[in-house]
Formats: sequence, structure tokens, C-alpha cells
Amino acid sequence: MSGIETSANAPEPESAVTQLEGGIEVDPRVRARVEDLASRVERYRASYYAGKPEISDAAYDALEDELRALAPAHPVLARVGSGALVTEWEKARHEIPMGSLNKVTNDEELRAWVLRCDELLAKEGQSSIKNDLFVAEKLDGISIELVYRDGKLADAITRGDGFIGERITSNVARMKGVPARIADKRPISVRGEIILCLSDMKKNFPIEYTSPRNTAAGTAKRFDGQGAEHLTVLFYDVADHFDIPTEEAKFAWLRSLGFATPHTAKGTVEDVLALYGRYEKTLRAQLDYEIDGLVVYACSMAAQTTLGELNRRPRGATAFKFSSPAKVSKVVEIRWDTGPSGRVTPVAIVEPVELAGATVQRASLHNAGLVRALGIGVGDEVLVSRRNDVIPYVEEVIESAGHKAVVPENCSTCGAPLSAEGEYLMCRNIACTAVVEGRIHAWIDAIGALEWGDKLISQLVAAGKLREPRDLYLLTWEDIAALERRGEKSAKKCIEQIKSRLPVTLPVFLAGLGIEGFAQQTARLLVSAGLTTIDAVVAATPEQLASISGLGPIKAASIARGLAARKDEIERLRQAGVEPTPPEAQGALAGLTFCFTGSATRPRGELTREIESRGGRVLGSVTKELQYLVIADVNSTSSKAEKARKLGTKLINEDQMLELIADKEREHASKSG
Ligand SMILES: [Zn+2]
Repeated sequence: MSGIETSANAPEPESAVTQLEGGIEVDPRVRARVEDLASRVERYRASYYAGKPEISDAAYDALEDELRALAPAHPVLARVGSGALVTEWEKARHEIPMGSLNKVTNDEELRAWVLRCDELLAKEGQSSIKNDLFVAEKLDGISIELVYRDGKLADAITRGDGFIGERITSNVARMKGVPARIADKRPISVRGEIILCLSDMKKNFPIEYTSPRNTAAGTAKRFDGQGAEHLTVLFYDVADHFDIPTEEAKFAWLRSLGFATPHTAKGTVEDVLALYGRYEKTLRAQLDYEIDGLVVYACSMAAQTTLGELNRRPRGATAFKFSSPAKVSKVVEIRWDTGPSGRVTPVAIVEPVELAGATVQRASLHNAGLVRALGIGVGDEVLVSRRNDVIPYVEEVIESAGHKAVVPENCSTCGAPLSAEGEYLMCRNIACTAVVEGRIHAWIDAIGALEWGDKLISQLVAAGKLREPRDLYLLTWEDIAALERRGEKSAKKCIEQIKSRLPVTLPVFLAGLGIEGFAQQTARLLVSAGLTTIDAVVAATPEQLASISGLGPIKAASIARGLAARKDEIERLRQAGVEPTPPEAQGALAGLTFCFTGSATRPRGELTREIESRGGRVLGSVTKELQYLVIADVNSTSSKAEKARKLGTKLINEDQMLELIADKEREHASKSG
């Protein structure tokens, strides 16, 4: 538990729980919320110390942060509880208790911490730490102490309540980053954090909906030890500092013995603030593991010793936390939306919360399996998060209202019975409006017909004019004009737009089919692998598809299934005159590769067509193969931009891209003319 802050001037724990607001008039609803939060913070803390945490650290932190914001001096915030440890693992005592850190969350607080340290040090005649700070990544994992005797791993004990933890040595011995033997023969007790690297999670834990931290916590303590070999321990401390003079030397010593460590750096306060900024902007997202902040230390061990501890929290170090990616909200409704492939996605509609600069009201629940696993229902208090700015999702249920969601048996759109496919529910009714509308949308999106809005598609589907993408090419402007509030001019424009997109390239054609997991990026992989005609794609076996780099067997099987199911439909499209063209025909941009990143003045699809219609290829990421990265600011220091520079890729903006196209077209014309 990394987030309990006990400030030096907090009131005595004995003071009454009421009258916390110091005479300020408080909204009774706020008062009720404070009381509610305080009692729950206490309860969850107790269960945590009892070895049976009810909620995650992140959820606990979110509740505690909210309480601190509403009632900063609440005695519960100053109290550190503990209780009996109940576990089936053998209990073990830490030779030196494992403490935790105070935290700061912004520049001013960090500067204030340095100032406080300097004042205390000045009293002892010691020099300022402001130009002598040390920084290590703060890992979001499970704390562990490892004891080595005679150079051999003898014990591995979880943090527990800081005094007594669980001995899980057999599991830890198999984790990455843990040397079985070290060259130093002294009795040594080192501290680290058990984490699950994102790449290991992807490879070995196919459950997409839980966090790496939760997976690591569950796996580290499995009695059968299964999966422990996929976990990693990164080390950051040694209980007895021997006579190591600085944090820098301490980390160097750990590394010299073969212990894996997080990244570290050394510098002034300004350096630390700049580094924090870089982590928030780019570095954090590039890591293969999750961190929730930086630990900032007084680099000198002498200074750390002088500063000492308060409530088992060292004064000479602080956790500089990143802004919280998770917030608490309440479930208003649970919807089961049928998508274009027929797959049903449960979505939690929550009370609006601000997360990473956006208002979040919908959070994905992924599939029926997760709904069951979470035991979620309307009225529940949940932790909603946004990782790396992707779709918000529900991390966990904090407080259940007791109305667990019932997994539906019928499609919410057409009423047809749903069938289960693994953890997913599917509507197999090909006439289901949700499926048909979704499929038409997929085609419209792929070809980039911007005139076509949701309403028009719904109306045409309802009128029975659209059942599959092929119907778009049989439609007349009169069909559209016959609809409510559609004029001749607009109707003609819609039809014109569909026709103007012909011919479509093979990746567009394939993506337009709306097969689950088969977007244009994936379709391009097939083309790059030599499947350059629709006939070749349709004829490919699942094994052949699975051998394409970037396509696993699961995705390959799903694509093969989707293609087989749409075989007749593909034929009908071709009969209607929609014949896909190989993307690398004889265009002016043949043989050139592009990738788009960041914001642009035109939709991505439109830019992609500019390239592909001239025979160029658009890649999904920066690779050795990439020649041009199209970016708003060619001097950007984003991770993509840096990577591109390293690989020798040219960085160009939209205007430069248009110039390039014009140049290539002139060249092309003079060659063929
Ligand atoms: Zn349906």
C-alpha cells in the first residue's frame, strides 16, 4: 500500500471522527461522503493488513485521495492500522520492517519537500540536497524482501503489514531478475517489487481485462507456482546500507550483484521536474512495465540518515506520483450493444467523471466473462480508468449495490437468441438491424464516404434498401430522396460519393467487410505477405494466415471464419462492379511507405486514400520499412518521432506530403508520357 500520507501536523488519532472541518460550513452531502469515505478507508486498510485486501491499491488510493481532498486533516488519514495476518503461506518476520513512502503530486509539493529537507539538514550543519537528488522509477507491483545468506537466495518474504509477510521463496526463486547466487557473501536483505512486464502479460496471460498488477499479485502467490517464471522482480533497496555512501552507489552495487533494477537518474530539482515531465509525456508509455511515479531520494546516505523517519516513512525520500489514471464513479446502466460482427459488448454507463482530460461516461466491460468476474451491477461504485489514453474501462467494483447484472439471452436489438463463443456472446441473426447497420457503417468508413451519416444508414436499413454493402451500389438517388427530409441534391451527392470511391484497394475492400479483428492495418499485413488479390485472400488457409507475421493463430482463425461466411457476399460485391485492386499498382507513389501520427487537418482515412490511390503503402507503425512519417510538428520529440529519426525515416508534415505527391506525379507522368 503505497499511498498513505501521514503529515507531521495531523491531529491526534484519538480525536473525534466528527467536527473535522474546523468550523467551516460544510454541505451535509459532503459531510456524509466524508464519513462514508473515512469508514471505508479504515475498513479496507484493516482488510489489507489482515492479508485479505478487498480492493486494489489503486482503488484504495482513489478513495483516500478523495477523502484527503474533502477533509485533509481527517484522523483516519493519520492512522496506520494493522491486524492479524491470515494466510496459507508460512508467515515470516522482516528483520528490518518494510516502511512506505510519503508522496507528492506536483512541482510545488516536490519543491516544498526539498525545502523541508534542507531546513532540517541546515540545523545539523549539513548541506542542501537541492542539487544532489537521485530518482528511480516507482514500480506498480508487489513489494518483496529477498534474503541472501552465503551468497545464496535463502528467503523471499512479501511486505505484508511491513513487519510480518508471507514466505513465497519457491515462487520468487523462479522469477526473472532474481539471481540464485550473488558474489557478496554477507547476510544481505534486498528489497524489490514483483511486476509483470506488458510483453510477458500479452504472451502468457491471455486475459485482456485485468491489470498487470492484479495478474502479478495473483500469480506470485499461487500455491502451485504456475506462471511465476513470467514475473519479474526489480530491486531498489537493501535493508542494511552497509557503508554505501550514496543512492547512486547503492543502485550500482545492486546491479553489480546481478539484480535487475528500474531506471534511475541523478540531478538537481530542475532536472527531476524535467524528467518527470518527460516520463508523463513519452517515457512512461514506452516502458514494458507499469510505473505510477518516480521515487525521489536525497542522494547522500548521510543526509538520509540525518533526516530519519517519521511513522516508518523516511523523510529523505518521497514518491512523486503521476496524475491518477483512475477515478471512482457509479454505474447507472449496463448495456449490451450488438456490434457489426454480431458480437455483443457489455458497456457500463457511469456517472460522468473527468479522466485524463476527458469526461468519461461509458466504460467497456469487454465481454460477458468480465461482467461475471467483476460481479458488476447497476448502482455499484466502480473504479474507472484510462490506460495510455485508450478506451476507458472498469477496473473493479469497489462497493456492490447487490444487483448483479444478468447476462442476456437475447439480442437487445433483434431479440434473437444469443450464442456463446468463449467468453463472448454473439447475435447470429444476419438480418439483425444492429449487425446490418454496423456492416454498412464498416463499409462506409473503409471507403471514406463522409456524406453518409448514422441517420441515413438507419433509415435505409429500416426501409429494407440496405442489407449488405453490395446494396450501396444498387441504390438510386430516388431511393434516398424518398426518405423523410432528404432532398434530391443531397441524395445525388450521396450516390455520387459512393461511386467516386471506386475502384477500392484490396485492404479497403477487406476492412469494409466488417470482420471482427480485420481492420485495414491487418488487411495490409496480408497484402505485404503476398496475398495481393481477393481470390488469393479467400483461398488462404487458417495455417497460411497464422504464419503471417503480426497475425496469431486466434486472429487468423477468426479472419478465415469471417471470410468463409462472406464468400457469397464478396462475389455479389464483385458482380456489382466492386473489384478490389492490388494496392501497389503502378501509381506515382509505388514502392513508397508512409505512416501518420498525431493530429492532422484531414481525416486519417482521407490521407490514407491520397497515398494508396497512387500505389503507396500506409503502415501502422514506425518500422525499418517506413520511409515517411507524416507528423504535424516535424521537430516533435514524441516516441514515434524519435524512433523514426533513429531508423532514418524522413519526418514530413501534411504540406510536405502534398508537395512530395505533386513531385512524384510529375515524375511519373514524364516517365509514362
Ligand atoms: Zn441481433
